[in-house]
Amino acid sequence: ARPPAGQIRAAFLRFFEEKHGHRCLPSAPVRPRGDPTLLFVNSGMNQFKPVFLGTAHPRSELAQQRRVVNSQKCVRAGGKHNDLEDVGRDTYHHTFFEMLGNWSFGDYFKEEACSMAWELLTEVYKIPKDRLYVTYFGGDSSLGLNADEECRDVWLSLGVPANHVLPFPMKDNFWEMGDTGPCGPCTEIHYDHVGGGRNASALVNQGSPDVVEIWNLVFMQYSREVDGNLLPLPQHHVDTGMGLERLVTVLQNKRSNYDTDLFTPILDAIHKGCGGPRYQGLVGNADVGHVDMAYRVVADHVRTLCVCITDGIYPGLSGAELVLRRILRRAVRFCAEVLHAPRGLLASLVPAVVEVLGDAYPELKKNADQVMDIINENEVAFLSSLERGRRIIERTVQQMKPSADFPAEVAWSLYGNLGFPLDLIDLMLEEKGIRLDSAAFNELVLEDAKRKAHGPQEGRQLEGTVVHLDVHSMAQLQRDNIPATDDSPKY
Ligand code: ATP
Ligand code: MG
Ligand code: MG
Ligand code: MG
Repeated sequence: ARPPAGQIRAAFLRFFEEKHGHRCLPSAPVRPRGDPTLLFVNSGMNQFKPVFLGTAHPRSELAQQRRVVNSQKCVRAGGKHNDLEDVGRDTYHHTFFEMLGNWSFGDYFKEEACSMAWELLTEVYKIPKDRLYVTYFGGDSSLGLNADEECRDVWLSLGVPANHVLPFPMKDNFWEMGDTGPCGPCTEIHYDHVGGGRNASALVNQGSPDVVEIWNLVFMQYSREVDGNLLPLPQHHVDTGMGLERLVTVLQNKRSNYDTDLFTPILDAIHKGCGGPRYQGLVGNADVGHVDMAYRVVADHVRTLCVCITDGIYPGLSGAELVLRRILRRAVRFCAEVLHAPRGLLASLVPAVVEVLGDAYPELKKNADQVMDIINENEVAFLSSLERGRRIIERTVQQMKPSADFPAEVAWSLYGNLGFPLDLIDLMLEEKGIRLDSAAFNELVLEDAKRKAHGPQEGRQLEGTVVHLDVHSMAQLQRDNIPATDDSPKY
């Protein structure tokens, strides 16, 4: 039996609500409310940040809660948590995904949090225990933080064998929402997709598609301040997040999120809309013509577009809206040039997205027509530039010496005059086995920034922190923050 995603999501919510006394709250919109440190809601805890920091009004409804569960729409395409570059290349990072979470606001702590998670995974979902590995925070001497031995001992007492309980440093096992805000040591649960009695502990946290992180349990104990210091929080909390798409992949006995019922209706709709080769599910070199990559990118991006536009983030010129415009243009480009789809394909996928997500997030059903219109208008606005840009790239490549880098001035013109997102230029060159002359490109960015910096502004706003325009931040700026040319439709 392979349970549908809808049942898997519902079983999570029911387990915490009915069996463990949690209050089920709706997902917040992906547009952050009143939090200038974020571009998008990137995890389930964002809407509870005031509770963690102790700044929620004591009589507000939120402050009355001790145990909460929900399924949160998340976008990780900018800022501290940015997975855009992985999308399409692997099969388990999305720009939009659903995060299942349970919270203790000053109520239960490590022991109960771990034991509920273990009970859900092994008894309700019946995942074989020998496929699971857990990690805990191994400490950080430079910050004077001890290893979380308490957490390790909780797992051992739950019967997890010692060689499946592994310490990791800050990078993996200390979770932070953003550059500032609530944070703390965490313990994570990983799943070995291969199994067969092997010990896969050496593959945990190594980026292997065989052993994938599924659930993070954060013990919220600190607030990261603007000066970088860790301030202890007034109370201890638990904040957990499990990616629904990854969990469904495990429970439907698949190897790729794209092979689950959260994605197959969208992949089918892509095929129906453009004919041509089907999605094969190959990752990496075997994907001749990048057709599979295109299917994954388009399926991922159209989900993100639906959710963001529904929640009031439109493709635009700065911040989250600029990120969304880049996402849309990448999707349009893969539709037109790799899948050779007719105009309008992207918007035509919206009903498939609504079919997959509409029951869990009914707001998607209400505005589907408007979402389609916005996608279509933006597609039209970009298509003629895309066509011109592609010809420019091809002509330039023909004239280049073998093994030369792509000239920076041409890339700059594609970006500045035709509104090509820089990551899209990178992708298009990569497909041709060519690299951008990025040193020269950074020079151009720098010159341009200097020209523009004659105003009062010294740097540009990047998610609330001022980034000074030095060469080291250029790579980041290129990806996140250069204002785009204004050729998109207005709302
Ligand atoms: P990874 O190491 O795989 O990038 P993460 O450590 O960044 O994941 P967390 O911030 O711990 O992820 O988020 C909690 C859970 O959300 C993860 O365990 C995973 O199941 C899920 N998740 C995180 N990022 C993504 C993503 N881009 N797409 C799908 N699921 C994700
Ligand atoms: Mg990540
Ligand atoms: Mg991780
Ligand atoms: Mg994690």
